[in-house]
Amino acid sequence: MKWKPFGISGLLVGGKPVSVKTLLLMDRLGVRRRYRVSTVREFVGKNFTSIPAWGQLAKDKHNKIGALITGVHFSLIKIGQSKHFIPYLFVSLDALSKRARRKLLIPLDYELLEEQDIILAREKREEPYYVASDKSGWFHYPGCKRAKKISSKNKIIFQTREEALSAGYRPGKLCKP
Ligand SMILES: [Zn+2]
Repeated sequence: MKWKPFGISGLLVGGKPVSVKTLLLMDRLGVRRRYRVSTVREFVGKNFTSIPAWGQLAKDKHNKIGALITGVHFSLIKIGQSKHFIPYLFVSLDALSKRARRKLLIPLDYELLEEQDIILAREKREEPYYVASDKSGWFHYPGCKRAKKISSKNKIIFQTREEALSAGYRPGKLCKP
């Protein structure tokens, strides 16, 4: 997976953003609660309306992978009833809905790290690569469920997308590598 620095946060972001509507976060008493999270958009007449936030994979300096929550196109976000708008939030993967988490992790070859109720991920291999079966004409991200079904005797690995394309394979429809 390709990572790029996210501003001055010290985080690296990767993959495509998914829509995030709620986050499971700890409140001040240490109780997990589900909060609505939205992109802040201000309209004429001082009415605020909201659209879902963006979640992208993000890696901290210890190479632990969680999710970076921002507004759409990296604008501000609003969490719950808070009157404060913030530029971003780095959360562990368990803060996301299962659906959002699954979608985010598709392009990544990862293992989950579970520590004290917190779930983060780590890349098994830093270099991106692609997987295909010699029985089909499609190639996938290693994290794609189609890729996981390929038996090891049929599995072909490509180091780059170009390599897979020039070997006559087409990008899988599900993971769109
Ligand atoms: Zn796929």
